[in-house]
Amino acid sequence: MATTRADRAADGDGVGVNLPPLKNGVDYLVRVVRELSPSEGQAADPLNLKYAVLHLHAATEVLLKYRLQLEHWTLVLRDVDRKHAGERVTYAKFRRGQFLSCGLDEARLRLEQVAGVQLSGETKSIDALVDMRNAVQHYGLAAEGRAEKTTAEVLHLLISFLHAEVLNHPKVQPEEREQVEEDLRYVGSSLRRIDRYVAYRLKQLEPALAPHPDQRLTCPYCRTESLLAMPDSVACLFCPESSMDIYWTAAAYASDVLRLDWRSQPTSGPFSQPAQPPVDDCPVCGKTALVRGALTHSSPTTPCDFCFNCGQALSGPAAI
Ligand SMILES: [Zn+2]
Ligand SMILES: [Zn+2]
Repeated sequence: MATTRADRAADGDGVGVNLPPLKNGVDYLVRVVRELSPSEGQAADPLNLKYAVLHLHAATEVLLKYRLQLEHWTLVLRDVDRKHAGERVTYAKFRRGQFLSCGLDEARLRLEQVAGVQLSGETKSIDALVDMRNAVQHYGLAAEGRAEKTTAEVLHLLISFLHAEVLNHPKVQPEEREQVEEDLRYVGSSLRRIDRYVAYRLKQLEPALAPHPDQRLTCPYCRTESLLAMPDSVACLFCPESSMDIYWTAAAYASDVLRLDWRSQPTSGPFSQPAQPPVDDCPVCGKTALVRGALTHSSPTTPCDFCFNCGQALSGPAAI
């Protein structure tokens, strides 16, 4: 049976670090992306994959059980009759880690049958991760390619689960959310450096991206060509957080993808004016969302004037 940090604490073998479960789970995810994404200019270290498997397994267990805990804390217990060492587990004992928790399979079952949470995506990859984790603990990592594929799949599944089922749950306190915001930003920005993850996601996203070659651009945040600037809405299908501000996305695209410099506002007085991102007012919709020199999927080498609010090129081959 799988054990958790709480189990070890119950056995008197605690590690002396008491992280709240959400922070703890996201902390494991930070480890995973750090192990899978090499630093700038460095090659990936195959040995890191072994630790990525172990940490991803821990992240899966902690985060799935945290979602169960949001439903009711007793759902995390191995025995729903709340027995542990011959005594009934109270909430106070639960908070101190004096309980045995359910296994990962049982946690998935309870999530589905009690909490009504369906894990989206390839849940078979969790089974593969469990097998891999057991093998890694005893024999090391044999099938590197398979491990890369599995970690990419589970990583995506967990990040989607966090955003869809956990972060906006009404029982998650604002302080808890704040504690993990920075780590989640780090995880999100590191994903684009994990080649296998990028390849897996882009293949998954292609059917949704392919019908919109004229609205598909490079996302300024993840740098994959997964940004869809549709009329009145901008979203990156690769980035975990899908809601994006039209003006700031246009500004980030101009400065980070096209490398256009921020300009100083015309100054009429003695005081310097704040710099403006290189985004112009659109002659069609009037919104400040027009980027000059943009490159779309359908026109990757011929620049156009693209309005992120209209969701179309106003000049160049794809212009109206
Ligand atoms: Zn993106
Ligand atoms: Zn426009």
